[in-house]
Amino acid sequence: MHCGMCLPTCPTYAETGRERHSPRGRIALMRAIADGELEVSKSFGEEMYYCLGCLACTSACPAGVNYAELFETARIEVERQGVLDSPKRDFIRWFALRFIFTRPRLLRFVGRLIWLWQVSGLQSFARRTGLIKLIPGRLGELEPQTPVIRRRFSHELIAPVEPARGAKRYRVAVLTGCVQDLIFSEINRATVDVLVENGCEVFTPPVQPCCGSLHAHNGDVVAARDLARRQLDLIDPAQVDAIISNAGGCGSHLRHYDHLLADDPVYAERAKMWSRKLKDVHEWLVEIGFRKPKAPSERSTFNAQRLTLNEQSAGGAEVSTSALNVQRSALSVHDKAAPTALTYHESCHLCHGQKVSGPPREILRALPGFELRECAEATWCCGSAGIYNITQPETAARLQQRKTTHLQATGASVVATANPGCHLQIENGLKQNGDHATVVLHPVVLLARAYAAERTT
Ligand code: SF4
Repeated sequence: MHCGMCLPTCPTYAETGRERHSPRGRIALMRAIADGELEVSKSFGEEMYYCLGCLACTSACPAGVNYAELFETARIEVERQGVLDSPKRDFIRWFALRFIFTRPRLLRFVGRLIWLWQVSGLQSFARRTGLIKLIPGRLGELEPQTPVIRRRFSHELIAPVEPARGAKRYRVAVLTGCVQDLIFSEINRATVDVLVENGCEVFTPPVQPCCGSLHAHNGDVVAARDLARRQLDLIDPAQVDAIISNAGGCGSHLRHYDHLLADDPVYAERAKMWSRKLKDVHEWLVEIGFRKPKAPSERSTFNAQRLTLNEQSAGGAEVSTSALNVQRSALSVHDKAAPTALTYHESCHLCHGQKVSGPPREILRALPGFELRECAEATWCCGSAGIYNITQPETAARLQQRKTTHLQATGASVVATANPGCHLQIENGLKQNGDHATVVLHPVVLLARAYAAERTT
């Protein structure tokens, strides 16, 4: 088709203006290889890893080209032919994809070690004394963006089975993720809170493997298939009404287990049922007609907002005292019923990968005391894109700045987003812009707190 409707939506094309960095250009390269006119080369490999995998092009394509499958197949072929191989790259891929991110208990152990490094004061000592500069290369450059590891992981916050509050209407399973479990376990807790509040009995296996999206997006389809089988062994889709994901990136991959295991004689049927029942948490809440939080009296509305702040500092999220004071004083203004302004960044894999765009907004608009302000380019990639901000730092930083500028232009004091990578990327972008007051929160955290506020009034 080559109509080019995708070009204006493609962040790497927008940043460079080069056809090869566009969906149309990348597909032309893939076709030339498929037709035997071109070899899989190092520059082709680099091109496939310069693509964000944000799938904005798939939303724009009038012909319904399944770029997601093309892009993943291309990366699998790049890895199969080894055109980017080097001892350092091979070791990092093996260590991350095959050693750490396939062993959930080991991942938690590593998380605990980083948490100890952070809470023991060693990290701030190393930063103050400059010792931190001893960390070599890219790892040293990334150190300032190290996420805050939570004191408690999901299995310490959530019981394996939690009953519905009131009449049980559904039985659902919740996926806690791997990165999300270590750095945003309170989001998993809030996810269970809003589900039990809406008549769901919730099953949350305490130890869950990675969903495999990291592996599939980086050409390791063998590990991705193995992790999918482990998920299907852990959660039998026949035993639940829905399988709930609260992370846009994971959800997009989890939704396609049917495709990933289509040729697996043992798991294909179960994978089909899994993909039918896999729901993003916002999509599921809207589907079951979630209960709108009561708009408590103005006073208690203020309590709800104050709750957001207080729990922020209590829940292990590290918000500086100055930021809290700024917000509290801002909120005292709100005591006079001015709603708190919030805006929403759409994670690429939630809006483009899973086509879930309306439900998060429906939930945000139902929050008492908050006003949703749309930001420009809400669906434009923030530059996180899995590990893109590690592998392509320059382009990722430009996209981060572009996103942060649009978010700050709304004047919102809360940014809502539903993906751990975007959450971190935006938090770091705001800090780099000197903004320590704006808070980044998952929509289900805001909804859980609105429900909790009802119980305090
Ligand atoms: S996935 Fe994103 S970066 Fe890649 S070609 Fe499509 S729009 Fe461009």
